[in-house]
Amino acid sequence: MKSDYLVRAKELRTLIHKYDYHYYVLDRPLISDLEYDSLLRELVLLEEKHPNLRVPDSPTRRVGGQPLSAFAKVEHAAPMLSLENAFNEQELALFFERVTKQAAGEELVFSCELKIDGVAVALTYEGGKLTVGASRGNGLIGEELTANLRTIRSLPLVIDYQEKLEVRGEVFLPKSSFEKINNERKQKEQPLFANPRNAAAGSLRQLDAKLVAKRQLGIFIYEGYFSAASNTYTQVLKKLSKLGFVVNEHRSSARNLPEILNFIALWEEKRQTLNYDIDGIVIKVDNYRIREKLGSTTKFPRWAIAYKFKAQEVTTKLEGIELNVGRTGVITPTALLKPILLAGTLVQRAALHNASYIKEKDLRLGDYVIIRKAGEIIPEVVKSLPQKRSGSENIFQLPTMCPVCQAKLAKEESSIRCPNTACPQKIEAQILHFASRDAMNISGLGKQVVKLLCKEKFVTSPADLYFLKKDELAKLPRLGEKLIQNILTALEKSKHNSLEKLLFGLGIPHVGAEKAKVLARTYQTLAELSNASYSSLASVPDIGPIVAAKITAYFKNKNNSTQLARLQAAKLNLTYQPRTTAHVNSNWTHKNIVITGKLAGISRAELKDLLEKAGAIVTKQINNTTNLLVIGEQPGSKLQKAVKQGIPTINAAQIVQDLKGTIN
Ligand code: NAD
Repeated sequence: MKSDYLVRAKELRTLIHKYDYHYYVLDRPLISDLEYDSLLRELVLLEEKHPNLRVPDSPTRRVGGQPLSAFAKVEHAAPMLSLENAFNEQELALFFERVTKQAAGEELVFSCELKIDGVAVALTYEGGKLTVGASRGNGLIGEELTANLRTIRSLPLVIDYQEKLEVRGEVFLPKSSFEKINNERKQKEQPLFANPRNAAAGSLRQLDAKLVAKRQLGIFIYEGYFSAASNTYTQVLKKLSKLGFVVNEHRSSARNLPEILNFIALWEEKRQTLNYDIDGIVIKVDNYRIREKLGSTTKFPRWAIAYKFKAQEVTTKLEGIELNVGRTGVITPTALLKPILLAGTLVQRAALHNASYIKEKDLRLGDYVIIRKAGEIIPEVVKSLPQKRSGSENIFQLPTMCPVCQAKLAKEESSIRCPNTACPQKIEAQILHFASRDAMNISGLGKQVVKLLCKEKFVTSPADLYFLKKDELAKLPRLGEKLIQNILTALEKSKHNSLEKLLFGLGIPHVGAEKAKVLARTYQTLAELSNASYSSLASVPDIGPIVAAKITAYFKNKNNSTQLARLQAAKLNLTYQPRTTAHVNSNWTHKNIVITGKLAGISRAELKDLLEKAGAIVTKQINNTTNLLVIGEQPGSKLQKAVKQGIPTINAAQIVQDLKGTIN
């Protein structure tokens, strides 16, 4: 049996890889930075304790995420590294001690500056003109974003310096623009950006530079590689300023730890007064010669550290608990708070997750509670303050009846569930999920519209959406002609979606977007999938016995069969259509490809996706139609079979690189 620490390290790497992908590539983080940092920290500690875990591609040694394939690639002249973090004064003191020891005999000066919570970019000027702008990407290769970066008004496009110059800095979205963008998105019922950093990253990756220009991004420059070397960083920043680059004005030089701590305390207090987010203070050795002496790891320089601010917390009153029924019937509680300003926004609600969460934290109605915001939109309740109780607080009683339809609730481990299939709020949530972007992607069907359609009994299941009539919709209040037309067009378009979008939208228990893809690829049609036996389903990799049981139960259910028949009657596409792009690489188009062995830095589903986007057909077994075998680490018997049959092979890392470079 594998040791516990090996299992946990593997689990941590998989989780971190997933969160990195959502954060760096999709700009849609799944967890807060605080949770992310604690997972990464756990892995760092495990690797320190068990050096055999220190593999080169561990997230503790890697920077950022893979560059997005929609943009051309730029290889950085020198790696764009991350920064080591200090989460408290002790960790900062250790950094200070280490640097002082290694730079013994030198006069040490530290530059203290704001850590702008944005996106790192590198900009190259040649002959005085901005020629290339790129994101950090994975530190070695970034995405070429020149057209988008040119839209940043505070970035000079022409400078009075003829030699080649690379500068680096942080692109950010001012808080005021962030709020404006999110308000607009809210009105259009589009998903909100979690924070200004994600909004800045998402904006920079827009394919249309005109849209980027509207976002009003800003940039602070914090490094420049001039051909004539300077002695200190302070001198370089002065030169950059003179050339017209915006260098952040809030900077200070420190010679000892108390001076550094003073600067940190000052800005931890004053950060709200800035019109951009900062998440800490960066402390850098000022002298370049000493920096050289200290060197770098593969992830960060040893001459700098980022002191991370603590999550922001305030105290307010828990005035009530609202209960909502989700699409699976699970009841989720939300804290209703006495409105309070936190990190620049007015907070009135906080997620409470489930009933056990309320119990564990002993949250009582009327309690004073500490709430915290750590980069996410919905803040969390940290704890209650029992010492502030007056005696009039009430223990929250779990309801026994559904707050919406009055059905008797069922208890499950940590949650409670409404079992009534006709519960109106459950149906509303199911329809919203069906229409959501990762499912059928029916724009125009936002929360308010779905609520109205359900209230007026126009729809009682997702299938009903396809039988909506224009003249009937026109009778509804608040639905204008344009919106009705948009909804009907989006519904028509959604009929052509590939099978996996429908499977995800149906809300089959335990079948998320990834599993829906696996099922669609494996069974190709809805008919094949609905007739699949339990043992066939259970043997599909990534599905397994529990999910297989849920799937067979779903297709046996009469209501579900009726709904599927109606979707068929509405002429929805019920087959899997692998995605191909216009710019496919002829090397892979129509090729039958099999993958074997462990993959590093990419999951099997992601590689499959990339191959299919390039026009390939990915199959499981080698047969006489197989054109190519992709080999990862420790390839299995498939490799021997391929060699025997004379099937060409390619290294997984090589094909990933080729694919990412060729798909537009
Ligand atoms: P980082 O943001 O902690 O620090 C390095 C970066 O700081 C540099 O690349 C640069 O872009 C930036 N920076 C800002 N001001 C600077 C200045 N004055 N001088 C130099 N650099 C400056 O490191 P990272 O590797 O970019 O990202 C890690 C962060 O991202 C962590 O805070 C982590 O919580 C978060 N993250 C969150 C998730 C999630 O799922 N929530 C996933 C991945 C990463």
